[in-house]
Amino acid sequence: MRVTEAIRMRCKMFIGGEWVSASSGKTFAAVSPATGEVIGEIPEGTRDDARRAVLSARQAQETFGRISVFDRAAICHAIADSLEGHKRELAELLSLEQGKPLRGEAIPEVEEAIGDFRSAAEDVKRLETSVLPAAGRGKRILTVRQPKGVYAIITPWNWPLSISAQYLAPCLAAGNTAVLVPAPTTSVCVLKLAECIDDAGLPPGTVNVVTGPGAVVGDEIAGHSNTAAVAFTGSSATGKAVAARAAGKSLLLELGGNGPLIVLADADLAAAAEATVSACFLNAGQSCSAAERILVHESVAVPFMNELMPRVLRLCLGDPFDARTTIGPLNNEAVAAKTDAHIRDAVEHGAAVMCGGSRANGFPTRLFYPPTVLSGVTPTMLIFREETFGPVAPITTFSSDDEAIELANRSSYGLLMAVFTKTLSNAFYFADRLEAGVVNVNESSNYWEPHTPFGGKAGKESGFGRVGGRSTLLEMTDLKTIVINTD
Ligand code: NAD
Repeated sequence: MRVTEAIRMRCKMFIGGEWVSASSGKTFAAVSPATGEVIGEIPEGTRDDARRAVLSARQAQETFGRISVFDRAAICHAIADSLEGHKRELAELLSLEQGKPLRGEAIPEVEEAIGDFRSAAEDVKRLETSVLPAAGRGKRILTVRQPKGVYAIITPWNWPLSISAQYLAPCLAAGNTAVLVPAPTTSVCVLKLAECIDDAGLPPGTVNVVTGPGAVVGDEIAGHSNTAAVAFTGSSATGKAVAARAAGKSLLLELGGNGPLIVLADADLAAAAEATVSACFLNAGQSCSAAERILVHESVAVPFMNELMPRVLRLCLGDPFDARTTIGPLNNEAVAAKTDAHIRDAVEHGAAVMCGGSRANGFPTRLFYPPTVLSGVTPTMLIFREETFGPVAPITTFSSDDEAIELANRSSYGLLMAVFTKTLSNAFYFADRLEAGVVNVNESSNYWEPHTPFGGKAGKESGFGRVGGRSTLLEMTDLKTIVINTD
């Protein structure tokens, strides 16, 4: 279909400014979840390849870290220009390889990635530091922000382009260099991103992309003595392994979520239903910010369902390249199997399937999953306790506001939560008490503006540190204090 020789030919890793095969010569197949076609043969990088990439990044950083902030900003704009020039191609690859609908989701994701480079370029020019009052006589004390060095960046498959850009843009703007390991099931589109970055004319070694199993190449870059810092987005389990491997390094971890969308008795039910559709079914539910639990006050449960069901039934599962499609296939078998298991467990324990509930037939692969609504979900069910990452809206009722807060916080995760109410006092009551890094009021849990801070609550398993605009730049620079004795 859209597989071209050009795509096949580009499947090389990017190390030290060269497009190379794996040192072992091995490859693995990139298979489209939408069509079942092999769309490329990806190099299966080895630990040696990863080490070579880290050393290239280390060498490049010595000069890249010293070029002026304004020159680095210009480089980020040049990358954004290059991405603009390949916007359609990037989006098509993203749909083909990840599965998300082209028009409604893949093109916006590429636009977000472009925006990340533009905003990092502008934010870094305004990253002021301070001159501090000194206690000592004749002392002058000031701070400067410096690059950390080589960043190990490890990204997932659900937003492969925007999450890669979300890290690479501030990383480069701040004067760091990078070795990026993409998720194996979305390596083709990240290699295309690297090609656009290469076209922008970066010094060799500034950005490196090593493909292959995360447990090999990701593990190597996270633990390598020449990487100063790690930026990781992925599951909480892998995040813990990465954190242990990178102990002592600067860490930015964006992990899983199991956030609720809470519908209070005084909510605008049509707005809450509309937001539930986006919160549960955007990217086929494969989002860390997805509403994994819908908590509804028992007094409005029936009218809420009456608002929700017609909206869900209007969603269109299908070919991501078809303009009518609002849900594409899941990205891989593991996430589809987990969705199966969570639904099966919920039904066995008494939940009712209002629509969907199992994989759809009649599509090119077994990864097409219809939007599913479950009612009667209780806190002991797997689907309530764990991150499903599939297109499911599990509905649980509650009878008081404090019960809603207790249920919401009864989770090992704390990333995003959403609450619907018409009362300002309720909005603040919930925003204050919900244990999450982000609380959205009268908005989908998936709503996030990329220049604003995003991340997990401390003590939960959703990670730590903040991404988003200036926040990532602050994370990706070291604050150095300089004391000058003028006496
Ligand atoms: P994953 O943890 O399986 O993989 C993430 C990345 O880590 C991949 O590139 C993988 O190859 C690599 N990896 C695997 N094992 C590794 C190891 N031992 N050492 C180093 N790297 C390793 O996650 P996934 O399935 O790709 O992504 C889905 C998860 O990501 C979900 O839990 C989701 O909530 C989370 N996520 C979080 C955010 C956020 O901002 N908080 C955003 C998107 C996704």
